[in-house]
Amino acid sequence: MQDSRAALADITRRMTAAAREVGRQPDAVTLIAVSKTFGPEAIRPVLEAGQRVFGENRVQEAAGKWPELKGVYADIELHLIGPLQTNKAREAVALFDAIHSLDRDKLAAALAKEMEKQDRRPELFVQVNTGEEEQKAGVVPQEVEAFVVRCRKEHGLSIAGLMCIPPLEEPPGPHFALLAKLADKLGLAKLSMGMSADFETAVKLGATHVRVGSAIFGARAPFKGARQG
Ligand SMILES: *Cc1c(COP(=O)(O)O)cnc(C)c1O
Repeated sequence: MQDSRAALADITRRMTAAAREVGRQPDAVTLIAVSKTFGPEAIRPVLEAGQRVFGENRVQEAAGKWPELKGVYADIELHLIGPLQTNKAREAVALFDAIHSLDRDKLAAALAKEMEKQDRRPELFVQVNTGEEEQKAGVVPQEVEAFVVRCRKEHGLSIAGLMCIPPLEEPPGPHFALLAKLADKLGLAKLSMGMSADFETAVKLGATHVRVGSAIFGARAPFKGARQG
């Protein structure tokens, strides 16, 4: 079994070193522990080690396991990092403190409506398809500015930052740099980028949120982990 306490300490140490190396404050970067596919028995030790910020990629799965844990640890912060269908907007707004996968007007409208109705305001990140991959979710880089403007003006949403998942086969650095450049241009303060294999690179390029799963929890079961979203 993965020693998640040791893994957490190691990741925190590496995040701190990466931040210092480029003159950033280590506490400017939030570690999101991505617990998708793992049950409460794997999550508890990570909570006991002091971690409070977690990421999930499916609304249904998160709804099944987090309300009970939230009852025990009141200060848990939950981030939705996977694709969101508009028909799950209500549940997502009710459960999550941040949503990293806003990428289309229909979803923006659904979220705006639910946020108003529930008077809850999860922090919103616009997902950018920096690699312009056919099958991948996200707004392509050349459309990000117009989309963020529409989110603000037409949907009345406040956008906190940008998120990306670089193409698997490419070095992530240029994608992180592009995301940072786009965010800077739009005056967005937050950058959700970097996973187990590349979070140090992301921190050096300005990540404010890194999403780390397998480096904390161990390898995911292939029949679940292989599914995208
Ligand atoms: C699963 C997932 C992660 C974490 O991936 P690891 O490689 O296990 O760290 C990060 N971001 C998103 C969007 C994911 O779906």
